[in-house]
This record gives sequence, structure tokens and C-alpha cells, in this order.
Amino acid sequence: MVKRRDFIKWAGGAGISLTAAGWSLLAAADGKRGTATVAAGVPTGTGIKGRVVVIGGGMAGATAAKYLRYWGGTGVDVTLVERDTSYTSNIMSNLVLNGSRTVTSLQYGYGNLASRYGVKVVKGDVTAIDPVGRAVTLAGGSRLAYDRLVVAPGVDFDLLPGLETAAAQAKAPHAWKTGPQTTALRNMITAMPNGGVFVLSIPPKPYRCPPGPYERACLVADWLKRNRPGSKVIVLDANPGITAEVHSFTDAFDVVHQGVIEYHPGVAIASVDTTTMTVNTNIGNIRGNVLNLIPPHRAGKVIAANGLADAGGKWTSVDVLSYEATVAPGIHVIGDAAATTQPKAGHIANQEAKVCADAILRLLSGRLPDAAPQTNSACYSPITADTASWLTATFAYDPLTKTMQPVAASSGEAAARSKDNFEEMTKWFTALMADSFA
Ligand SMILES: Cc1cc2nc3c(=O)[nH]c(=O)nc-3n(C[C@H](O)[C@H](O)[C@H](O)COP(=O)(O)OP(=O)(O)OC[C@H]3O[C@@H](n4cnc5c(N)ncnc54)[C@H](O)[C@@H]3O)c2cc1C
Repeated sequence: MVKRRDFIKWAGGAGISLTAAGWSLLAAADGKRGTATVAAGVPTGTGIKGRVVVIGGGMAGATAAKYLRYWGGTGVDVTLVERDTSYTSNIMSNLVLNGSRTVTSLQYGYGNLASRYGVKVVKGDVTAIDPVGRAVTLAGGSRLAYDRLVVAPGVDFDLLPGLETAAAQAKAPHAWKTGPQTTALRNMITAMPNGGVFVLSIPPKPYRCPPGPYERACLVADWLKRNRPGSKVIVLDANPGITAEVHSFTDAFDVVHQGVIEYHPGVAIASVDTTTMTVNTNIGNIRGNVLNLIPPHRAGKVIAANGLADAGGKWTSVDVLSYEATVAPGIHVIGDAAATTQPKAGHIANQEAKVCADAILRLLSGRLPDAAPQTNSACYSPITADTASWLTATFAYDPLTKTMQPVAASSGEAAARSKDNFEEMTKWFTALMADSFA
């Protein structure tokens, strides 16, 4: 039976990889002097040396940068390159749409990574990776050399036909990366009339946060029910059925939000016309007051631009013992950009980052990566403004398939939505973000 409180605890802990103290002991066992660490600090005596560059300061990249220093010590030179000055969390961003959160409340700076762990934070956009010369080039032309590279750029989106221009995109925002589109979508919802129609489309798998679009449908329906009577949420799902938390969302669509949410599986979008606010699909032309169309995903563009998109032309296949790219030795790809059997989720990105950091530190010390990593994931899904369901999963390395496989005994979803779950969601989120950014 899953104990969901464990996931709150694990999010704030060290996952399955070695702790800083563990790395010091490892160094001591080698005859090198192990050095005790303070809680938020960097050990000095691990004996590990190397230069690691991390591309992308999101859930995966920030965690990897922090733990490379926290476990690896002062001999590991870590540079984090991020194009934005702060990170805006996607997790919890659906709560901006019902007015219970702001985008600003979801922002996290990089000051702690620099001051507490000595990560060198560089604001910049990596455009080129030179796997032979072991260096990356930033948009301004500067180069950073590395011994090991971690690439964590998250996702980019494919354009839906009809949404090629910025003007069309502004009329049908996906808001699947928190920012100005999220605020714009919130404003569109509040501008809806009574009896209005909100159209939400869900892309084919894999996409980031499998339960996320269904959660969004619930939160928008819940707000409309109370504030714009007679309105509807039409969900156009490219997948053959609900992709996550089937029990919770079936109940939410059929019972909690009955008559408000209209769910259509297996929908292919042929084109979008933002002048008439119409989505042309295989089940007919659907008109809405608001079009919230989440496009198909691919790894952040630095992946394909540098020959790393070997999985379906969109993602990077990796060895999940180290997250080293199959096609590029010395380059590790983590988070949403990696093709693994685990979901594309922030909690999993945090876990992959720790396994990867641990593996890099072992490799830099002439060891092999841990042969039996485990990861875990939790996801809380608000169903109304004050109740939530949850989904948890644990994954263990399967040496036969060389993949991470779910452990049935510790995976599952909530029996029912509750206010208690909603409160735990906030604790889980705070612990997860602190583990990555504080
Ligand atoms: C609405 C919504 C709700 C969600 N809810 C949950 C949830 O409840 N639980 C959960 O676990 N997950 C959730 N997720 C998923 C989660 O946000 C992602 O899976 C997670 O952010 C992936 O982490 P990442 O580090 O791979 O990518 P990101 O967090 O997107 O970070 C990528 C970073 O890389 C930077 N970058 C990209 N390219 C470059 C470059 N070339 N140079 C420099 N910087 C670059 C970007 O600016 C960005 O900061 C949700 C997602 C959405 C959209």
C-alpha cells in the first residue's frame, strides 16, 4: 500500500543516491580524508575533481547542479547555464487559472545555488555543443569547457496548423510553460460570458505532466460552475483515453463536474482558425470562447540542434544508470528531454538529476554508476479549489530490459479526492522546490 506521506519526505531528502556524508565516507575508504559537511554546504575532502557544465536551470538542471556540489565537494567545478534570470514553476500553475495563485508566487531564484553551494550561475542561451572538444558555446559566442556535460532543457512545442504566427498563438495560448501565457489564459477565463465554452486540447503522449491537462479541465470547470453558470469545458484528447489517474478523473468528469466537462478521446486536430475561434477535428468543428490548445512536445531545441534527438527524432535515449546519452559519451540528458519509461514530471526530473549527479561523481572518481537506482514520483491533482487527488509511483532499475520499471507495491492513486490531500499537496510542493532550489 502506498504511503503518500513518504513522498513528501522523499522529496525533501536525498532520493536514493549517496548523501554528502556518504561521499565523504567513500573518499575516506579510499585513503583520502573525508570531511564533515554542514547542512547547507559543500564538503572539501572528497578527492573528486572535474568540470561539469549544466544546461538549463529547471527542475532537473538546478537539482543536478546543487547535488554535484553538495555531494561532490569543492573540487567539482559546476557551472549552470540558464537563459532566464529566475525559474517559474509549472507545477501548481493550473492554480493561477482559478485565481488562487499568481505567476510571481511560482518563481525561484538561483541565489541559493550560488551562495550555499558555490555553483557558478551563468545567464545565457547555449546554442552549440562540441562533444569532441568538450565545450559548449553560448549565444554571445563565449565557450565553456567541461569534462562532463548535463543537458536539461525541458521541452519545446510543435506548432498546430493555423497557429504559426505570434498573433494566432496569442489568441489560443497553451500556457504549458508558466509565464505571460498563463496570465493571459486566466484573463481570458475571467472574460468568458455565462454559458461560454472553454476548449482544451491534450497532445499525444509523451507530454509533460500526464495528469496536468485533466487537472486543468477540472479547475477551470470548477471556477466556471461558480462564476459563469451554464459554461462548458470541452476536452479534446489526442490519446485513446485518460492517460493518468483514470479512477480520479473519471469520477471528476462523470460525477464532480458532470454536465460541465465534455470529454472526447481520440481527437486529431487538423487545423485551428483563430478568426472564428474554431478547432477543426476528426469529430467535427468545435467553437469556443477560449481555445487552450496544448501542442505536441519535443525536447528543448538544443537537443535536436546538436544531434542528440535519437529517440523518435524528438528525445534523447539514455542509459538510466547514469543518464549518459546513448549517442554521445560524456553528455548526460535528464528531465523532460530524456526518453525513459518514467513520466515527464518535475518530481521525476529531480530524481533523475540526483541519480545522474551521483553517477557523474562516481565516474569522475573512476568508479561505475550505482547498478540498482530507484526513483520515485508524486503528483497531486486539484479536482476543485480545495480538494485534490494524488498519484505516486516508484521505479526500480530492471537489469534485463535496462529500463526503470514501476514497483507495483508502491505505486497507485488516491481512493478519493479530499481536502487533506489538497493540504498535503502544498507541503509536497514546498519540499520538492526546496530540494531543487534551496
Ligand atoms: C501545468 C503543469 C503542471 C505540472 N504539474 C506537475 C506536478 O504536479 N508534478 C510534477 O512532478 N510535474 C508537474 N509538471 C511537469 C514539470 O513542470 C516538468 O516535468 C519539469 O519542469 C521538467 O523539468 P526539466 O528541468 O526537464 O524542464 P524545465 O523545468 O522546463 O526546465 C528547463 C530549463 O532549461 C532552460 N533552457 C532550455 N534550453 C536552454 C538553453 N539552450 N540554454 C540555457 N537554458 C536553457 C529553460 O529556460 C528552463 O529553465 C507540470 C507541468 C505543467 C505544464
